[in-house]
Amino acid sequence: MKGGAPRGRKTSSLGSTDPGTQRALRQDMTCTRKHDGGQMRRFARWGRVVLSVACAAVAASACDGRLSSGGEPAATDARTDASTTWLDAAPPELSTAPIPAPPAEPAAPPEPAAPPPEPAAPPPEPTPTPSPAPTTPSPAPTPAPRPAAAPTTLPACRHRGLLKYGLHPIASDHLRCIGVTADRISQTIGTAPASAGYHARDGYSGGVPYTAAVDIRTVGRTETQIRRLLGQLADHGFAAWYRKPGYDGWPASEAPHIHGVFVGCRMKAALQGQVRDFLIGRNGLSSHTTYRFYTWTAAQKRLLRTVYDRYN
Ligand SMILES: [Zn+2]
Ligand SMILES: [Zn+2]
Repeated sequence: MKGGAPRGRKTSSLGSTDPGTQRALRQDMTCTRKHDGGQMRRFARWGRVVLSVACAAVAASACDGRLSSGGEPAATDARTDASTTWLDAAPPELSTAPIPAPPAEPAAPPEPAAPPPEPAAPPPEPTPTPSPAPTTPSPAPTPAPRPAAAPTTLPACRHRGLLKYGLHPIASDHLRCIGVTADRISQTIGTAPASAGYHARDGYSGGVPYTAAVDIRTVGRTETQIRRLLGQLADHGFAAWYRKPGYDGWPASEAPHIHGVFVGCRMKAALQGQVRDFLIGRNGLSSHTTYRFYTWTAAQKRLLRTVYDRYN
């Protein structure tokens, strides 16, 4: 009966209570341990090789990413010789390709362009500086200019030959100097009925008869031009009237003209009466009415009076 055997022995790790079987099992287990120990040592040696190769590959790949992306890394290659050869043999690109420079730092974004300068403000308007008050004392009031002394002599006109026969030589010079031409002179010494003897000879000058009276044509002249001429005649020694038909006592039936008397020479009584009439603003006709066509200045009348008195 097997009941006499301790229960513990039957439940040993060998799982057998048979001494022969247990002995065989122990031997087998010992053999197995010995055998397993040798294999483990070999595996350990191979593992170290593989680990070293893997570490080398990882280190290399850390330096150059192209190594890991290039050929198949030998980290899984168990052959030591092959792994060593792969490590020693530098890839072709290593010897020729330059090591790329580390990527440059990203360029800083360009500074925003400076805003355009504000348009130059216009220059300030120059402040007008108040002009200093004049420091110079106001000039003493200049005395009112004296009225120019009225000329008492006729202008010195260049003497030339007689402009027209019958004129006094000096009268001829003054007529010429104010632009009266010979063709404008209609009568000097004459006996025209309308003249009523005013153009009769007054005397002789250098043996040549003359009269102080002269008639000047006005055909083609405006009244403005006639008035200007009357003023010029007075300035050069002539008391003269414009005989306008129908005006200032001149008959409408008579021809228009200028009748003048040169005061710078001796004259007959008929002309003297006319000059006196002129000096008081009359027409010099038998009517002795006030002359209205033109008014002479006091200076002009004063000149004529002075010169007339010198010769008459
Ligand atoms: Zn003159
Ligand atoms: Zn006349």
